[in-house]
Amino acid sequence: MVRSSQPYPSPLWSGPESCPFCQQQLDNGGAAFMRHIDANERCHDGFERWRGNVSGDMKGEWSE
Ligand SMILES: [Zn+2]
Repeated sequence: MVRSSQPYPSPLWSGPESCPFCQQQLDNGGAAFMRHIDANERCHDGFERWRGNVSGDMKGEWSE
């Protein structure tokens, strides 16, 4: 089902109520998504990687 040549799923933002990494339906796009990310290692990795790519584009802008 999952192609092993791709270590992390690419995000596919098809809508606010489905996970962009596995396309699983979520209760809503906010808290449910964060819970889903916490519970699914692959989606978590994909999210971290995606977020890293995004923040890498604006480095220096966002400091926590
Ligand atoms: Zn997912």
